[in-house]
Amino acid sequence: MGDIRLILGDQLDPKHSWFARHDSSDTYAMMEVRQETDYVRHHAQKVIAIFAAMRDFAETLRGGGHRVLYLRIDDADNKQSIPENLEYLAAQAGATSLELQPPDEYRLDRQFEEFRSRTRLTVRFAANEHFYTERTDADRFFRNRSRWLMEPFYRALRVKHQILVDPNDRPVGGKWNYDSANRKRWRGHPSAPPDRRVTRDQRKLWATISGSGVHTFGDPCADDIPWPRSRADALRHLDEFIEHGLRHFGDYQDAMSAAEPRLFHSLLSFALNTKMLRPSEVIERALDSDAPITAVEGFVRQILGWREYVRGVYWAKMPEYRDRNFFSHALPLPGWFWTGETRMRCLSIAIGDSLAFAYAHHIQRLMVIGNFALLAGLAPAQVHAWYLGVYVDAFEWVELPNTLGMSQYADGGLMASKPYVSSAGYIDKMSDYCASCFYAKSQKTGMRACPFNALYWDFLDRQRPLLQNNPRLALPYRQIDRFTPSSLDDIRARASYLRNHLETL
Ligand code: FAD
Ligand code: SF4
Repeated sequence: MGDIRLILGDQLDPKHSWFARHDSSDTYAMMEVRQETDYVRHHAQKVIAIFAAMRDFAETLRGGGHRVLYLRIDDADNKQSIPENLEYLAAQAGATSLELQPPDEYRLDRQFEEFRSRTRLTVRFAANEHFYTERTDADRFFRNRSRWLMEPFYRALRVKHQILVDPNDRPVGGKWNYDSANRKRWRGHPSAPPDRRVTRDQRKLWATISGSGVHTFGDPCADDIPWPRSRADALRHLDEFIEHGLRHFGDYQDAMSAAEPRLFHSLLSFALNTKMLRPSEVIERALDSDAPITAVEGFVRQILGWREYVRGVYWAKMPEYRDRNFFSHALPLPGWFWTGETRMRCLSIAIGDSLAFAYAHHIQRLMVIGNFALLAGLAPAQVHAWYLGVYVDAFEWVELPNTLGMSQYADGGLMASKPYVSSAGYIDKMSDYCASCFYAKSQKTGMRACPFNALYWDFLDRQRPLLQNNPRLALPYRQIDRFTPSSLDDIRARASYLRNHLETL
């Protein structure tokens, strides 16, 4: 009697030590289930890309001589729940024990613990083998510190893994952080690399998914899916990025352009989060490249720093983290989050890109969509559900801290030293969006005034009791204090109008 080993849709790591040896008594179980398609409404491309990659992974394992039992979404035997399918598949395989790689989502972790307490199968956990850190490392690191800031955690990981440090553990290039060099506006030069990702026709798979009643949103793009189906696709794309994108990644990391939705971003998050690629190999490729230190450090910081750090926050703070709402924001998301149809050009582009590509880059997510949601006072739980559904790379361990913590400040400043909010000034500085917008970027009040302006000042004004002692906000509060009472009243009135008419902006 052998093991049955479960492979989840975000555990597609062919380098996992499970696959290094063949044991004819072991059976791998994979399943497409409504439990996973329905816990939030997902973008169509996300469901297609994950199922396509799972099917390819199963075929690769079979080709390598492994035994795989695979339940498709429309199989009659599919119970559509992971525990029920596990009991069924274990019986099929004649297995008495189940081996699992630890799931990355709290929801599944709880489900497996509950399953373990009632199943007759012996349940064992294998190593994860993907991340640099363990689930509990950040909790241990920050336990006796007053702030949970990413930077010291990142520096400690650089030293521990000897990444971009000299033999004395000092940063290569003399600086730990090149953030200040990474804030250029993009003016059309250098050219952004063309999107050379391998695309595949997945219309048959899409017909099966939609025919099974799975509700999705966004453009399925089923005849031309650009997300990697396999590690081979992902490696090809990594090569392209290292050769053509990385050198400019640092300079234009915060830039936004209507003409180039991706600019110099890597688009590697789907391959990383489904574990087709390991973060260590992506970082090694960047370190071996001839890109400048500002670009390499900026890129390493995202993966070794932010990615490991947000996972640590997630595991330290769940489950209560999900319910945090520091500002008690409660407005529902306006309907244009599902259509992109708003006259605010920045939002129309950022949401339009998200719906078309199941992707928007970091600054669009943070400083356009998230910024607006926070300024307008949208309910963080609804914002979280939208982000978790819309992006192809969205898995709760990475999405939730980014959305609730970094972008909505709903954790009251655990992750961010101040709310990431801005008026039109920042968006105009970093993008080409404002020039042809319906709204006037420089006006605070009046029907054509950019909504970000009144909402920004009104947000700071309304939240003064919670924010005024934050030293990083001293400057804007001094500015508010110089507003005349009547101009502040006008701003408040305009902001109130905007919040009451979100649907029509
Ligand atoms: P690049 O800009 O090329 O960066 C390289 C890699 O660094 C990414 O692939 C990613 O693995 C990692 N990375 C960069 N920033 C972060 C970050 N803040 N947290 C964790 N990893 C990071 N990322 C997700 O993977 N899934 C999500 O669901 C997700 N939701 C987000 C929600 C909000 C509100 C915000 C502000 C950010 C979110 N991010 C999320 C982080 C980041 O925006 C994406 O990782 C990035 O845009 C993915 O595109 P890319 O591969 O082109 O990244
Ligand atoms: Fe966005 Fe305002 Fe600029 Fe228009 S003017 S693109 S709404 S920031």
